[in-house]
Amino acid sequence: MSNKKIFAANWKLNKTPEQAREFVIQFKNEAFKHDSFFANREVILFPPAFALEAVSTLCAGTQVGFGPQNIFAEKAGAFTGENSAEVASTLKAQFALVGHSERREVFKEADELLNKKNHLIETLKMTSVFCVGESLKQREAFQTLPTVFAQLDEGLQGLFIGARIIIAYEPVWAIGTGKVATLAQVAEVHEAIYAKVTARGFTNFQILYGGSVKPDNAGELLKVPHVDGFLIGGASLEVASFMKVALAT
Ligand code: PEP
Repeated sequence: MSNKKIFAANWKLNKTPEQAREFVIQFKNEAFKHDSFFANREVILFPPAFALEAVSTLCAGTQVGFGPQNIFAEKAGAFTGENSAEVASTLKAQFALVGHSERREVFKEADELLNKKNHLIETLKMTSVFCVGESLKQREAFQTLPTVFAQLDEGLQGLFIGARIIIAYEPVWAIGTGKVATLAQVAEVHEAIYAKVTARGFTNFQILYGGSVKPDNAGELLKVPHVDGFLIGGASLEVASFMKVALAT
């Protein structure tokens, strides 16, 4: 299992191909100023679909990983408007984001569909960054762990336990709101996810925290046991703030 901390950038529906190219060029320049940057860190970029090829071209042959923010559960066919994981794979994407809370909420993606997506990603030998997390209502009703466990049970159902998977714990109420989960809340859920995924037989997995991670809170969050890195939205849009988060380790 990798000991590197993972910094995954979710750009959501932001950045043109040109802006994505500028980011990657600037990011590589900054990263290479630090001798051991990639020895201690893994970086994954999730650009919007139209910018995937631009990112692919600039990341080819580098240690910067990337992938789409969403894929459909079928490789190809009559699925107007969807993204093909197979095409992402031909662009050398190593990762795909699955089950982000915006996909679950806005696009009504259910656990069964997300499980199919995870299976397709496994078939293509890519790695899923599989998002789980509770809403504020669920947290207030003391349903955090049952919610996250159900998402894990359904999303990971039938997957090959020898393959790598990355779980991103993102409390929905902390995404894009500026409200960060407390260290104790993060510790409790990460510990529970670690135990759950281990009990399912997986050995090669990492757990990211996501939800208003910023340069000023990254350092303390990274010290929480079983926090293997972050899925970062707002603070990943500018190289300066993304680098500051990545250098907090
Ligand atoms: C996200 O989009 O996954 C996310 C965590 O966003 P933010 O960092 O802006 O809360």
